[in-house]
Amino acid sequence: MTVLEIQRYLPESDQAPRWQRYEVEGEPAWSLIDALGYIKDHVDPTLAWRASCRMGMCGSCGVLVDGVPRLGCEVFLRDLPDRPARIAPLAHLPVERDLMVDTEGYLRRLRAVEPWLQPSDADPVGPVGERLQTPAQQAKYLETAQCIGCMLCYAACPQVAVNEPFLGPAALAAAHRYLSDSRDHGHARRGSVQGLQGVWGCTLVGTCSEACPKGVDPAAAIQREKVRGALSFVPSLFVRGEDD
Ligand code: SF4
Repeated sequence: MTVLEIQRYLPESDQAPRWQRYEVEGEPAWSLIDALGYIKDHVDPTLAWRASCRMGMCGSCGVLVDGVPRLGCEVFLRDLPDRPARIAPLAHLPVERDLMVDTEGYLRRLRAVEPWLQPSDADPVGPVGERLQTPAQQAKYLETAQCIGCMLCYAACPQVAVNEPFLGPAALAAAHRYLSDSRDHGHARRGSVQGLQGVWGCTLVGTCSEACPKGVDPAAAIQREKVRGALSFVPSLFVRGEDD
């Protein structure tokens, strides 16, 4: 039997979050999402959480498992400790209900970096209008393009916890993805990336990259944008005024 202690918060009746204990007669191969589904179907229909694809693609089932940000579909009962495991909503984001967090803060940060391709009509196009790119050019951003928006990196980032305007790991990794794309011309529209709420707000703790379930390395992406910003600043040091 697996024992889960789940953080509950029902805004209509709870003044503050509380822990509730559940016993699950599940198979070792069950995922945490299977166990939460069992509880909802057979024990307590009021329990709320998010999940969709159940295969590590949609990014909707992020929770803290004993304080560690994980995708619920990638945690299996066989891997949980013999003692009760504590399941809580992702840290650093407002809790809507039980294990569900409000995603608006993350989406607002993501929108700020305009994470979509901004091409130029002057660029060459292929026979059916496609924007041409070599495999080497694609390789420059392919890693960061694997992001599924699960927000585990936000729950792991100590700067997100203390610096609310900070754009955070995934949004800055998304900015790096487009700023590194040979087909993109949106550099001037992503000025917030080079600020204290952008890459310069990162203190390089690196826990975002450790938490990422898709192999994205937001910490490295942020440092590369710091280098890009510093290099673009250098030429301005050599511009002479009229009186010089
Ligand atoms: S960078 Fe990784 S941890 Fe962060 S949102 Fe994207 S997939 Fe999730």
